[in-house]
Amino acid sequence: MLYDFAGIIAQFNTEEGDFEISGFGSGHINDTYLVKNPGSEHPGYLLQKINSFVFKNIGGLMNNMLYVVNHLKQKISETGGNPDKEVLTLIPTKKGKYYYKDQQDNYWRMTCFLADTKSYDLVTTKQQAYQGGVAFGRFQYLLSDLDPALLIDTIPDFLNIEKRLFDFRKAIEGDTAGRLKEVKEEVDFLNSRATAMNEIPKLGRANILPLRITHNDTKFNNILLDKEGNIQCVIDLDTVMPGYIAFDFGDAIRTIINTAAEDEADLNTIQLNIPLFTEFTKGYLSETRSFLTEAELKSLMMGVLLLPYMQAVRFLTDYLEGDVYYKTHFAGHNLQRTHAQIQLFKILELNKTELENILQTEWNNLKPGAILNAP
Ligand code: ADP
Ligand code: MG
Ligand code: MG
Repeated sequence: MLYDFAGIIAQFNTEEGDFEISGFGSGHINDTYLVKNPGSEHPGYLLQKINSFVFKNIGGLMNNMLYVVNHLKQKISETGGNPDKEVLTLIPTKKGKYYYKDQQDNYWRMTCFLADTKSYDLVTTKQQAYQGGVAFGRFQYLLSDLDPALLIDTIPDFLNIEKRLFDFRKAIEGDTAGRLKEVKEEVDFLNSRATAMNEIPKLGRANILPLRITHNDTKFNNILLDKEGNIQCVIDLDTVMPGYIAFDFGDAIRTIINTAAEDEADLNTIQLNIPLFTEFTKGYLSETRSFLTEAELKSLMMGVLLLPYMQAVRFLTDYLEGDVYYKTHFAGHNLQRTHAQIQLFKILELNKTELENILQTEWNNLKPGAILNAP
């Protein structure tokens, strides 16, 4: 066997048992295993090897996670919800830590397995889009009274567009792979939108947009739905850190409302599903209307444009540098990804007024202070 699972599991404060281990889920970052004692009523555990190439400060990351799950559990208990079902539960090691580093320097953590739940890679129904909005909106709402300064950046500059554009310009100047001549049009297009895309950090520095705690990986498969298809729990908390709420809204729209792949080759299939956008927005605002400021409402559309833009900048930077960061599956893969993200950005830009109207209408439909779906 690849790892000494019995030895790793023995480090954690689990129930006794003769565990069976199997690979689980479709995450791309961590390695996830289901650990189950076949003779027991206990639903079992999820064991994860945390990706220490992506996350350099695992102690800090697990500290973040502990702050966040403790806060969420407290808030959900206060409002009569079930914290065991609605929030991840970390299993401590026998030494009282929340991760275990093995002799090969692999980092492991354990959570309770949430049985009778499902996660989906793609949104196909309006109910799912609505539940996605409720899930990430509620997550932000429940964390809106936790001090962001308590948390570290688990990936420094992860959503820092100014830094991403700085790296982009360095890649253009360096032109180390000699590819600049092929991509002049893409470079010019991205440069033409750079000033507009710097708006969120500028408003942040001017104290117009507050720094809050955000999830930063708001893909649909980071939500567990219950048997009825309603939100049960938001998972994958590795990137939870200080951020602007528009980042979560924007990345959710980028990945949930565009049903084409991130690297779609046929640009005609990249389309905006406006009914799903509306449902996501309804769910999201029903949870966040009570605490978001008017400036934050306005920033949501900026986030919707910024997230695909930033992804395009990152893919093109990597293409110019000779494909050193992202795994590529064929020559030109990073360029194809760039084209797909630019296409999505252009469609969003064309529909900007309509999307802003939907946001404003749904906002106006909700009474200030109303928390429709709070647990
Ligand atoms: P990654 O960072 O690799 O995406 P995740 O933490 O999202 O890792 O976990 C991968 C998958 O495992 C999820 O998409 C989900 O299907 C499943 N999963 C994660 N945590 C739990 C849990 N506590 N209970 C049930 N399923 C889970
Ligand atoms: Mg995940
Ligand atoms: Mg993840």
